[in-house]
Amino acid sequence: MSSEQAPITDSTTAEGDPVPTNPDPQTPEPPIDPDPGPTPDPIPPPTEPIVYQPYMWYSATWTCRTVGCVNENLEFDVPMLYSNNGTNVGVFCGRCNKKGLILTATLLDPQPEPE
Ligand SMILES: [Zn+2]
Repeated sequence: MSSEQAPITDSTTAEGDPVPTNPDPQTPEPPIDPDPGPTPDPIPPPTEPIVYQPYMWYSATWTCRTVGCVNENLEFDVPMLYSNNGTNVGVFCGRCNKKGLILTATLLDPQPEPE
C-alpha cells in the first residue's frame, strides 16, 4: 500500500506583483513662462482725433511707432505738453528722433504759471 502523498506545493505567490501607486512623487513641475512674447502688444491709437486748445498746457501719454525702436509700443507720460497754436502738437521720441503718437492729452487745470 502506498499512502505516500505528494507534497502539497503552494504555487500561488503571496506577494504578487507589486503595483506602484506613486512611482515618482518628486516629479518636478515644468517651469511656467509668464511672458513668452518679447514684443508687447501694440497700443491702440486714440479712437478720435485729439482736439487741442491753442496755447495751453496738457499732460499727455504717447507711444513710439517706429519699428525696431527700443521705445516701440511702450507708453510714456509727458507731464507738460504745450499745444502751440492748437494744431502743431507733437512729441518726439528721444531714441529714434521720430514723431511719436500721442494717445491721450489732458488739459492741465490749473494751467502752469507763465515764467
Ligand atoms: Zn522711437
